[in-house]
Order: sequence, then C-alpha cells, then structure tokens
Amino acid sequence: TDVPLPPSTTQSEGLFARAKAVTPGGVNSPVRAFRSVGGTPRFIREAHGAYLTDADGTRYVDYIGSWGPMILGHDFPAVRNAIQAALLRGTSFGAPGEGEVELAELVTRLTGAERVRFVNSGTEATMSALRLARGFTGRNFILKFRGNYHGHADGLLVEAGSGLLTNADALGAAAPSSAGVPAEYAALTLVSEYNDPDALDALMQERGHEIAAVIFEPVVGNAGVLIPTPEFLAALHRVKDRGVVLIADEVMTGFRLSLNGATGLLGLQPDLTCWGKIIGGGLPVGAYGGRAEIMDFVSPQGPVYQAGTLSGNPLAMAAGLATLRELEADPELYARLEAYTTQLAAGLKDLAAKAGVPLTVNHVGSMLTAFFVDAPGGIRTYAQAAPSDTKAFAAWFQHLLARGIYWAPSQFESIFVSAAHTDLELNATLEAARGAYKEL
Ligand code: PMP
Repeated sequence: TDVPLPPSTTQSEGLFARAKAVTPGGVNSPVRAFRSVGGTPRFIREAHGAYLTDADGTRYVDYIGSWGPMILGHDFPAVRNAIQAALLRGTSFGAPGEGEVELAELVTRLTGAERVRFVNSGTEATMSALRLARGFTGRNFILKFRGNYHGHADGLLVEAGSGLLTNADALGAAAPSSAGVPAEYAALTLVSEYNDPDALDALMQERGHEIAAVIFEPVVGNAGVLIPTPEFLAALHRVKDRGVVLIADEVMTGFRLSLNGATGLLGLQPDLTCWGKIIGGGLPVGAYGGRAEIMDFVSPQGPVYQAGTLSGNPLAMAAGLATLRELEADPELYARLEAYTTQLAAGLKDLAAKAGVPLTVNHVGSMLTAFFVDAPGGIRTYAQAAPSDTKAFAAWFQHLLARGIYWAPSQFESIFVSAAHTDLELNATLEAARGAYKEL
C-alpha cells in the first residue's frame, strides 16, 4: 500500500509539553495548536524555500508560508542578505532612518496610497486605521462583515448572529466573539453579510450617517477563500457617498494577489488600506495608508494619536524592502504562482471526485481553500462555507501531514503558495492528496 509510516514527533511532543507549562495552550497564536485537526503541533526548527523542518528532523512541503509573508519562499537569499546588512548597523534606533523612507516610497508608488504609516502587525494596522477613520469623521460606529478577520483589537472581535440581515428589528445588532470584549465596545461594531450588496445598502440607508468606516477583506482568506462579486464591490464603493471611510484590509492580500494587492486586481478605490505580512518580508511589520487628506489626521501631523517603540524597525524595513523589490523585479512571478495554484485546485478536485469525496475549491492568485462540501452554486459567504465537513478535513489534513505535506491546520483558512513551489512539490502534494482522499 502507499500508506507511509507516520513521522516521529517525539521532539515536538516534548517541546509542546514544556510549552504548555509556560504558555497558554503551548502556543503564541491559537491556530498553531492544531486544536481543530488534532495531533501534535510540529515545532519548527528551520525553513528554506518551500520546506519546513521540524524538531524531529522531518521535512514538510509548507503551505502556510508563515500565514502569508513568505511569498518568495523561506530564507530567500536577497532578503537574508538585506537583514544581515541591516543587522551590522544596529537593531533599533528610536529615531527615523532611511529604510522607513525607502519602504514608504516604494509602498506609495506600488499602491497609489499618498501617505503610509508603519506599525508592527496587521492588528495594529486595522486598529489604527479605524481610530483614524473615527477621528476624521467624528462618527463612532464601524461596520465589518461576518467571517472577515481583521486582527484581535476589541472592536473587531465581533460577529453577527445568524439571521441578522433578514431581520429588520435586529439590524446592526452584534455580539462579541471573545470573552473580555465589553458589550459596550461590541455595540459600536455593526456586522453585515459578505457578498450581500442589498444588506449593505439597507444598513447604510439606516445607519450610514453614524458610521465612520466600513472595513473588509477585498478577497477573504479568513473564512477560507471567498471571492467578492462585482455587485458587492459596487455596494462597497457606494458607502463613500455617505462620508464613510472605506478601509480595505489587505493584510493578507497586499502584494500577494498583485503588486497592488486585491485592490489592483479588482479595481478597488478604498480611502485607506491596511497591510501586514508580505510588507515585512517575514519580520513583524504592519502599515496603513491612503488619501493624504485622511492620513494627515495622524499624529504628529494631526490629532489622532498612534505611536510605536519599534515601528519602522531597521531590520524589518530591510526585509520588507528586499521582498517588495524582488516582487517588482520579477513581473512573471504572479502568473507563475497562479498557474501552480490553478493546477493544484484542478488536481485536488479531480482526485476528490475520483475518490467520491465532496469538495469545493476556491482559489485566486496564490490563495486556495479546499472546502469539504459539495456546493454546486459555489461558496461566496461564510454561511455557505460553514457546512463543510470539518471532521473529514481534519482526517485529510493528518494524512497529508503523515505524507510530508503541511497544509493549513483549519478548514476555514487559506493556504499560501510561494515562488519556491515547483512542479516537484506540486506532484508530491497531489500524490499525497490522492492517498489521503482514499483513506477517508
Ligand atoms: N487582517 C487580516 C485580513 C489578516 O489575515 C490578519 C492576520 N491573519 C490580520 C488582519 C491581523 O494581522 P496580525 O496577525 O499581523 O496582527
């Protein structure tokens, strides 16, 4: 048979036990704990190109890519060299440096944003952009979409109850999705359904004058991959007519779907954009930017306070600059990533069909989710993704892992293909997937 021996996890188990004694759940970000798929989370020792090597010495084809940043693959020489060169000049100054200017110039040139401010994570970027929108408009409410994720700031850990949008009485009601978020904060966050332009129009009609900002994922990665409809994008643009600040959260899609992210791909014109992940080339960077008229409300230019001890860190700026320069220098790269992902999608669908496993694959550029559900009409909303068979997904994930393929450890996440993935990894993945489907 083609059932491989499961790789040893002795070292990872030992590290996980030690970690659990000193860190909540043994991890510093929840999904890493493998709670939804079971098994031992692999503790990673090193990563090169398309591969992770864990503490037991097992090599895996990596589809996490650090959840987005590693679009060039791990340990990309130009990025490593840039970090090393910056390292020799010092690791943090607490005063401005040339790297920040260079990266800001490159980001504004690639994206059309007139001003950009660097922070240290995607969470900080969205949190700061929302404060700015509130300061600029003098309004208190914000609106997000069900199943979209924008980091862990209080006001963004909010998700609508089901049926909200068809129930006029409950219009705009929302409940926190985490303990520790006061209901009073959550009450300032309205929630609408992604890809439902009528619901958005209705909510805007009713509450638009109170809303500072609409924040959205221009292509969703955090409910699994969801692609917006043209009608929904048009409704998003209409919110600007009501003086609402339109904020594209491109933390995941920025510099991934094109040099100007999903915004460039879909022809969007947001007022503000948030970035993270790729903009830091694997080091901790976030950013927000957009129209000068709004951005100039940020301190010290304007009255909206936002600061950071390590913001614009020289090592992080060097890694981001080297990454974006490489992306710009290789115009064929996005097409290559998309070709790999398209072949992967076709192969997964074909193999699942042959094995009689229900599967719906959403993909765009180098992002892909294989939903374990038969959805002939497609999956456009979180509600349509939710019925996916998470048990089947978990079993499939474990079979892949046993065959050396490290898929995203949750049904409702995107995987990320990097420039280091070649036909070799594609064939290995499909071969492993074939075996994994057969065992379900
Ligand atoms: N927005 C989006 C769209 C994201 O995907 C993420 C992280 N996955 C965030 C914001 C938060 O970024 P970070 O984890 O860097 O705080």
